[in-house]
Amino acid sequence: MRFRQHICDLPTYEVGKPLELVMRDYNIAPADIIKLGSNENPFGVAPLAKQAIHDNAHLAYMYPDDSYYELKESLGQKYGVQSEHIIIGSGSDQIIEFCVHALCDEMAKVLMAQTTFAMYAIYAKHCNATIIRTKDFTHNLISMLHYYKEYKPNIIFLCTPNNPLGEALPKVAVMEFLQQIDNDCLVVLDCAYMEYCAYKDSSYAITPKEIIELPNVIYLGTFSKIYGLGGMRVGYGIGNNKLIAMLHKMRPPFNITTLSLKAANASLFDEQFLLQSLRNNFAEMDRYKCFANQYSLEILESYANFVTFLLHNKLNSTKIGTLLLQRGIVVRDLASYGLNAIRITIGTPQQNEVVIQNLIDIITNIRD
Ligand SMILES: *Cc1c(COP(=O)(O)O)cnc(C)c1O
Repeated sequence: MRFRQHICDLPTYEVGKPLELVMRDYNIAPADIIKLGSNENPFGVAPLAKQAIHDNAHLAYMYPDDSYYELKESLGQKYGVQSEHIIIGSGSDQIIEFCVHALCDEMAKVLMAQTTFAMYAIYAKHCNATIIRTKDFTHNLISMLHYYKEYKPNIIFLCTPNNPLGEALPKVAVMEFLQQIDNDCLVVLDCAYMEYCAYKDSSYAITPKEIIELPNVIYLGTFSKIYGLGGMRVGYGIGNNKLIAMLHKMRPPFNITTLSLKAANASLFDEQFLLQSLRNNFAEMDRYKCFANQYSLEILESYANFVTFLLHNKLNSTKIGTLLLQRGIVVRDLASYGLNAIRITIGTPQQNEVVIQNLIDIITNIRD
């Protein structure tokens, strides 16, 4: 058996540590673990979604309606677009996969920011495509445009807000950028955290309706973050109907489970849960900012549901990550991104209190 060489060379994606692993490694009971490494909603599953899973459990024996009619109708209503503008994926990750696999071969080039969501590069490597990154620390549309003109990539990824750094792009700047890109290059707007960003500052809010006339732009959203359904694996892409029709050729039948569809659909209507999540996120983010100020830590301005600390001097992200784990706290060490930094998902007030107390304890110990 011989695997293709570029597949052998692929590193395996490192996700936030799953609960089971933490429990086994450190002998900590699940109820005592504070899991803030994967940007999940700390309030869990939206109550309406939980109800829908319960109410529809008896349908799990059946294949889902493969047109995903109900969910597309609801998303269409929410965003003011038609079903033909929407594709549903097993997480928006799967839509990224469809885009890259549909457009890239070993001659292809994919342009992205220096530090951004790891899956873009992983899918590009599946195809042995060339990955081009801008040199700036965060998204910079001016250099992005320079690189675009120089390399003529097949795909450009813009992640706004960006995971794992938290910055976002003003809507006007993105719309102007899109005008400069020819139709033969696909621009993927990964908006996994857009709900948070739009709540914080509406001038950063990009809506899919504004891009569906463009033939070469896709907007990606997910139910994994604010909707609290990471375990159900549902995401979506919205774009021009011709682009969406092409991507549908990549989609395996029944890629979303019956219960995931029901849960995702119900979560869209749980406005109380969404509002509570947004309010908590930014009130609690302020606590992390105060803490950073008090302890002279560098914290990045975030438009998402996490904060990223850039560490200096004696503070090492892997060391701190491990010390937190021993105390049952999971955060994301960004060493695999080549950074001495940790990313912490904003938790509930109680969780954040524990995290901050432990961080204070750990860093004062290291600094002394
Ligand atoms: C979480 C995340 C996604 C998608 O997650 P799914 O669970 O696959 O929907 C996509 N992009 C970014 C930047 C993310 O952080």
